[in-house]
Amino acid sequence: MSKFLSKKYAALTPYTPGEQPKERKYNKLNTNESPFPPSDKAIAAALTAAKSLQLYSDPEAKKLCEKLAEVLGVGVDCVLPTNGSDEILNFAFMAFCDEEHPAIFADITYGFYSVFAELNRVPYVIKPLRDDFTINVDDYCGNCGTVFIANPNAPTGILLGLDEIERIVKSNPDNVVVIDEAYIDFGGESVVKLTEKYDNLLVTQTFSKSRSMAGARLGFGVACPSLIADLNTVKYSTNPYNVNSMTMAAGIGVLSDEEYTRSNCKTVMENRAWTEAELKKLGFEMTDSKANFIFAKHAEFDGGELYARLRERGILVRHFTKDKIAQYNRITVGSMEQMEDLISAISDILEENK
Ligand code: PMP
Repeated sequence: MSKFLSKKYAALTPYTPGEQPKERKYNKLNTNESPFPPSDKAIAAALTAAKSLQLYSDPEAKKLCEKLAEVLGVGVDCVLPTNGSDEILNFAFMAFCDEEHPAIFADITYGFYSVFAELNRVPYVIKPLRDDFTINVDDYCGNCGTVFIANPNAPTGILLGLDEIERIVKSNPDNVVVIDEAYIDFGGESVVKLTEKYDNLLVTQTFSKSRSMAGARLGFGVACPSLIADLNTVKYSTNPYNVNSMTMAAGIGVLSDEEYTRSNCKTVMENRAWTEAELKKLGFEMTDSKANFIFAKHAEFDGGELYARLRERGILVRHFTKDKIAQYNRITVGSMEQMEDLISAISDILEENK
């Protein structure tokens, strides 16, 4: 830390992204990226857009908003594209959290929520998950504050149903409820349609997972026009050109190729089921994940040790050190080849330990 850093950030512990090591080629199962390349339509559109990079991108992202609205079946003034969904989440902390509206989120959830709360210096309340990692819906009911729920949750993959989310939204009429649907396309039901009915619901999604565009940084929020207007106030006060023109074009391209996205999600779900069955045979327990990752622990083998042994063999998974989940690893569901490589490495490691 230099002597110049503002005191307000002196105690800030930044978010730690999953490793992206370059020193050797890894079987990367640690950051929930898609194993599939972006849609050809996305690549072609981005290449065309590259020819006009001397111009600023459209601050209104008009064409992308129109396409998103068409695909989602909502009004064009109900969407806001951002630089990854991390950005819209940060905007939500900036716009909707303060002393009267503390942020409320789970102890085991997306690690960025507490970082955004600290960064924006807003109060927050942490609600422990139950021992089986499920969310106690009652913890989020009764106008308790600005609610942030990842659905499916990360890193557990556990999904809340539409009725449960609606109960939370209904019981917080004076607070915004943010449902982070980064992983919704792998077996969950989106609550986007509830944004027409409730003026306090913000749904966020990303192009980083099901749409194979993590490197392009594209996410978006869906909400009633007045919430979107509030978020735009924050956006235009920080970075009006938050989405670059190549990414915007690629986003429109992939949205014109929904079949490709759906087919990739189906493959991931099939590969998830296969991997879960194999892990069970090897003595693992896991949550009922509806995301593109598996959250697993072995009855006898230490979670941190397994992470390290897989790493030695060129396989990266994500291990978190928080006590409650230290025996678990979060494993991205990749291609069948990647999954076979993982299962064979784990079998060898367990065999060596006998
Ligand atoms: N929400 C959750 C639950 C996530 O795991 C991630 C990915 N790290 C994000 C949001 C943000 O993803 P992105 O900024 O790539 O859209």
